[in-house]
Amino acid sequence: MAEVLQVRSSTKKSSKQTSVAGYVALCYHYIRDTQKKEGSFHRLLGTNQQEFSKHLDMLQGNYQLLRPQEVMRFSKGTFSLSSQKIGILLTFDDGLADHYQAAQILAQRGLSAYFFLPTCILKEKLPANPTILHYGIAAAGLTSFLEHYRNALEEYRLPIQQYDVVFEVGKQDPWEIIAQLKQTFRYRFSVSQTRAVLLEIYRTLLVKRYPSVFESMHLSEAQVREMIAMGHAIGVHSHTHVSVAVLNEDESLFHAEVIEPKKFLEATFQVHVDALSYPFGGKQDCLTWEALIARTRDYDLAFTVEEILNTQTTSAYELGRYMPMSTDTDETLHKTIERIVQRGQGGRETSVSRHSLASEDCAGSVAGDGGQGKTHAPRPTSHAPADIRHPEVIHETADPHQ
Ligand SMILES: [Zn+2]
Repeated sequence: MAEVLQVRSSTKKSSKQTSVAGYVALCYHYIRDTQKKEGSFHRLLGTNQQEFSKHLDMLQGNYQLLRPQEVMRFSKGTFSLSSQKIGILLTFDDGLADHYQAAQILAQRGLSAYFFLPTCILKEKLPANPTILHYGIAAAGLTSFLEHYRNALEEYRLPIQQYDVVFEVGKQDPWEIIAQLKQTFRYRFSVSQTRAVLLEIYRTLLVKRYPSVFESMHLSEAQVREMIAMGHAIGVHSHTHVSVAVLNEDESLFHAEVIEPKKFLEATFQVHVDALSYPFGGKQDCLTWEALIARTRDYDLAFTVEEILNTQTTSAYELGRYMPMSTDTDETLHKTIERIVQRGQGGRETSVSRHSLASEDCAGSVAGDGGQGKTHAPRPTSHAPADIRHPEVIHETADPHQ
């Protein structure tokens, strides 16, 4: 009798503790070294290095940090996660120059991460689309950036009246104008028009002022090689950073942006590349798992930016991630992860504000004051209108962030 009671009580205890095993993936963009004073890119928003280290302290203290290989095996069912400790996977999008130091910081702690690279940065030594936008606005301010934008439209004979984006300083919210610009580049132009206009701005605005600007924007092949030697994994983030769902219908573009990059990375670095991170990552930018495997079986994992707990039942082609913002402290990040975990385990959402949804998109993005001399001005997330907070609208439309 006593034995039965004991069994019953332990059953009760374990059922109370039962939780779904899984992991939360984080998707970082800019990790700024605030000690560096040179350059005119102080407007770029991102997590500063000191804050990044605090994030890592918090993550290592509360969660099980997973290696890319472990996440791969978890999806295949050959690696199990403890239901007592939630896993965390670190990922970095866009092949930003900042990621070299971030990779070193992680390696010093014995951690490894996925770094998702747009292959244009290695193959053509040209920046990815959103990086041109971020650096262009950071360097020139929004007003001057828009002048360069109009000149580029003229250069490519694109009708200005159809694509113009107007910013009246003091009257309009610069963030809304930046969001408009991002929408235009992502969905209104064709893929080749977007690329042509942005590369024109890159040449006339950035390279002209800062001949070696590319090195401050993106990783080099030698750096990626070193990062792999540190134990990190690389994955595909398209070739020029395009919305994969937008180009899905175009056979040759799909090949150039999704298939070829994997082959290029494997041939260049002699590693197996098995993961894809969808640029922008919102629902309207990603394929469903059915649509992806109908097009290609080249990948084993695909990451979006849906804020979900990845469990054994999550499709390996629709894995979620949360994009930490420049305003995320270790504390707010901890709360956000707990909220995602709780939701993933069928619990009620806490009253924690959904600040996370006002992400800056693939990026860090920039302070769009349009004026000169303003320092790092974080996006006023708490006052963003409700529709802008929706990740599908804001992601890489306002970043982070992509
Ligand atoms: Zn991105």
